[in-house]
Amino acid sequence: MKKFSFIIDVAMCENCNNCFLSCKDEHCGNEWPGYSASQPLHGQRWMNIARKERGTFPEIDVAYLPKPCMHCDDAPCIEAAQDNAVYKREDGIVVIDPLKARGQKKLVKSCPFGAIWWNEEVQLPQKCTFCAHLLDKGWKQPRCVQSCPTGALAFLHVEDDELETIVQKENLECFGTSSSSARPRCFYKNLHRYTKCFIAGSVASGNEGESECVEGAIVKLLQGGVLLSEQKSDDFGDFKFDRLPPKSGNYSIEIETTEGTKRAANIQLEESVSVGTLWV
Ligand code: SF4
Ligand code: SF4
Repeated sequence: MKKFSFIIDVAMCENCNNCFLSCKDEHCGNEWPGYSASQPLHGQRWMNIARKERGTFPEIDVAYLPKPCMHCDDAPCIEAAQDNAVYKREDGIVVIDPLKARGQKKLVKSCPFGAIWWNEEVQLPQKCTFCAHLLDKGWKQPRCVQSCPTGALAFLHVEDDELETIVQKENLECFGTSSSSARPRCFYKNLHRYTKCFIAGSVASGNEGESECVEGAIVKLLQGGVLLSEQKSDDFGDFKFDRLPPKSGNYSIEIETTEGTKRAANIQLEESVSVGTLWV
């Protein structure tokens, strides 16, 4: 049977919050019996955009990570619910029953992704429904996907084996340490922009007073004397090694030009860093 899933491209999200707002528009002040109670205007973000700044001056970037309910296939919230108050539909969607879940505040903590919000006024745990009330009427995608101007959000309705092929082919990943056990149906492209680190810098010749960018220098990244990666500096002399695990130890950078090879920097990597200008 075909099931629904999200594919979210972190590199394409610009934090415009259209997805967040369209979710509010669809759910605030609207009861969808059997699917969800009204979402409060404030205090809940069923589509929550997390932010991560990386790097140090002058090499800095920012990534935005849209986080809805992941509609997990082994959802801890289903396990934690009493009276089958949370259940998975055959099409993959996880629903919190707005009547049965009343009073079950512990469900908020049961979600390892922080996707469940507590509505104090009506004593109800609430979350993203994938707009199941619209899909059941024939809509092809939820409101958030429809409103995303950059194509950062994609919605799939495919069999599990086709999904697996797409995940492998496009190198998609799930977010968070709990993903291996919970098995989310939300997959990310370019997740390294949020979860990994970079070492960046520039290659120049001359000195501070009279310098020139060095284009095409071979920049090597080594760890324990082992070459991990190499790249050529670009038109501005810049280089950037990305997808490095945070707090992953000591690295060194060597630069090879027509003048020879030079060990240019040693780095103890904690978080993303710019090593500044490396002179050759
Ligand atoms: S993301 Fe959280 S609320 Fe959504 S299905 Fe998974 S465990 Fe449940
Ligand atoms: S609508 Fe698209 S680009 Fe805008 S915040 Fe949401 S996911 Fe990002």
